[in-house]
Amino acid sequence: MPEMLRRNIVMMGAPGSGKGTQSAILSEKLGINAFSMGDILRGVAKGDSEEAKLVKSLIEKGNMVPDQLAIRLMENELFKPENEKGYILDGFPRELSQAEALDTALNSEKYAQYHMNIDLVLLLQVPDDYVIDRIIGRYQCAHCKTLYHEKFKQPHVYGVCDVCGGKEFTRRADDTYETVVSRLRTFRRVTAPVIPYYEMKGLLVCVDGTGPIDVVSEKIRKIVGY
Ligand SMILES: [Zn+2]
Repeated sequence: MPEMLRRNIVMMGAPGSGKGTQSAILSEKLGINAFSMGDILRGVAKGDSEEAKLVKSLIEKGNMVPDQLAIRLMENELFKPENEKGYILDGFPRELSQAEALDTALNSEKYAQYHMNIDLVLLLQVPDDYVIDRIIGRYQCAHCKTLYHEKFKQPHVYGVCDVCGGKEFTRRADDTYETVVSRLRTFRRVTAPVIPYYEMKGLLVCVDGTGPIDVVSEKIRKIVGY
């Protein structure tokens, strides 16, 4: 596979920045898979190897998966033949130690001929106020799960789901001001140090993540060049 065709992308952003949504769009447009660490762990836990049992018990106990194991699982996943056109990492690495370990793994000699290493890091930038508004205003149809938002996306008829006509709506219990602020703090403390690391390597491109989803994905399209 010629090196030019591979795209290895990391999507970074604070909680509520839209990185999951944009990773999914980019994944579809480029025809390459997007992964979060959670996806990979859940995938591994389905097997019945010793490793699967270990991961399953870590998930069940709510324990963190150690960096070394996380990186090894990620590396195995990314190297699968179905990912030969590249990959998108959605919200991983989550901290500097993971970014360094991932680079070491993907730059190792055994992958030298495959170009596994990261070649673009997109950082979705959104002000805290915007994230807070975006998260605490969201709710969904209790029946068909369509997402709505108090400020940005009300149903066409107030209180009636556009898709299924349902009249009951739910909110996630952790979409409160306090939890959002605490997740933003964690991002700043734990994940933000990854940003200058990729900047120093010349891989970082910042994207204004405010505005409608299609406006942001158009900005990303221009950067990625598809
Ligand atoms: Zn509905």
